[in-house]
Amino acid sequence: MKVSEMPYKRITVEEFKEQAEKIIAKIRAAKSAEDLKSARDEYNAISVEVETACSLANCRFTLNTRDEFYNAEMDYYDNAMPLFTEIENEYKKAMLESPYRAEAEKYINPRVFKGFEFSLKTFSPEVIADLQAENTLVTKYSKFMGELAFEFEGEKMPLSVLRGKLEDDSREIRRKAAEAIGKTMEENATTFDEIFDGLVKIRTQIARKLGYKNFVELGYYRMGRVDYDEKMVAAFRRSVETDIVPAVAQFKERIRNRLGLDKIMYYDDAISVTGEMPRPVIGTEEIFRNALAMYNEMKAEIGDFMQRMLDAEAFDVEARDGKFGGGYCTTFAKYKQPFILANFNGTSGDIDVITHEFGHALAADYMFRFGEPDYPTGMETHECHSMSMEFLCHKWMDEFFGESAEKYKYKHTVDALSFIPYGVIVDEFQHLVYENPDLTPEERKAEYLKLEEKYRPYLSFEGIPYLEQGTRWQYQMHIYESPFYYIDYCIAQCVALGFLGLARNDFEDALGKYVEFLKKTGAVSLDELICGAGLNSPFAQGALAAVADNASETVEKIEAVLFN
Ligand SMILES: [Zn+2]
Repeated sequence: MKVSEMPYKRITVEEFKEQAEKIIAKIRAAKSAEDLKSARDEYNAISVEVETACSLANCRFTLNTRDEFYNAEMDYYDNAMPLFTEIENEYKKAMLESPYRAEAEKYINPRVFKGFEFSLKTFSPEVIADLQAENTLVTKYSKFMGELAFEFEGEKMPLSVLRGKLEDDSREIRRKAAEAIGKTMEENATTFDEIFDGLVKIRTQIARKLGYKNFVELGYYRMGRVDYDEKMVAAFRRSVETDIVPAVAQFKERIRNRLGLDKIMYYDDAISVTGEMPRPVIGTEEIFRNALAMYNEMKAEIGDFMQRMLDAEAFDVEARDGKFGGGYCTTFAKYKQPFILANFNGTSGDIDVITHEFGHALAADYMFRFGEPDYPTGMETHECHSMSMEFLCHKWMDEFFGESAEKYKYKHTVDALSFIPYGVIVDEFQHLVYENPDLTPEERKAEYLKLEEKYRPYLSFEGIPYLEQGTRWQYQMHIYESPFYYIDYCIAQCVALGFLGLARNDFEDALGKYVEFLKKTGAVSLDELICGAGLNSPFAQGALAAVADNASETVEKIEAVLFN
């Protein structure tokens, strides 16, 4: 079925509640573990209906944000969501309290119950008003950032466009872009500080009402992290400091020498090669034709899946007036159909759509076929799927980038490793802030600056208005909108770089392991998934030293081709 032909029908809270209550009654009256299992199957079936309806409404809204019908549907779900969650929690509670739970774990993966336990830890009716207040502040930040106009050489532009200039070949333009970012942010400093301070206070209040010391533990439960905890993340950050930071510093030193710079300024961070940034040398139609050929060559069943995506018209990539400006991969679970939205603009980002987003879509297809809808799967695992696929596609990049393919692979690998120190800054900063909720905005900035010095000692903010005071985090939307999310990108990046190493060594072997990883997603722990692929868990001792060595070896090999 084509995505555009999928019928949409709203499922109301009342309809859902009526059906869910019947199932909950069955769970309470269950006479055996089999009864529990069949109740769970019934619940999953109605839950898939709701999920599909929400996802279709959201997708159609993003395709045309002016569509009145779907605007109204989005309003409905915004209000209804906490009510759906409340009913869902009743179901999970009944499952967990069943005397047949232990026996049922023979039929239902025990991870499912663990996931239920975690989601019950994040909610109680007494925090509903606080959750709404938190959402209001998040929306305020997101609207504020969306509407904030930055002035660059007399022209007003959104941050997304201005940030593009931080990749300009001219250092003067990059410097001016960083200054423009700093100046506009400084003018709005009070708003940034007030919104964030409000978020820290309200999140701390929610945590305390739910019985936690501060927001950190609750933040982890909200992320549904059944496979790793705060201590493991702290150890991960320490290994980044000892093992990844020196490797990145070496890359940066070689880049500094090649570019003839006195020091690497914040606005030089995105630059690893001189000249134009690598761009696709072909248009949209050819990108899709070459992507289909690439996936057919990679593995017949992956090529078949790409063909099914094309037949279902499950890509919408042309930029249009009224269309949502970002990009995403979503699914319509009832039809076992993934869907990708993007806005092609002629940059290397267009290729990410058919590698990164396609990785998400392919993983969703395997999960539909081999997994269960209630398996707990963390964001780090989803990002492993997509970031690893980006690297598995390296082999075919000359089909898209022509002569700049090596340049692209070089920049991609350098950026991937350099991202990790930044990612842990964002993570450690949030731990500091929520462990010490009474820090003043000034104290927070001072702490952030110390973290920059700890994890990115090779980078200077000197002389850049406002940003030199330790405020770079104020335009990192995850810090405001999705607390503690960011470390998942760092974990996934380590796994993805692991797949790059495997692929450069023996591509067929790497691909086989990647496909196994997709098939087992959610059914086993993160550790088992990663180790099953012959990689070290990023949390294991010495694992990040190996990631750094591998990435350095790859980068040196590409450097030998590019710069000799
Ligand atoms: Zn992604």
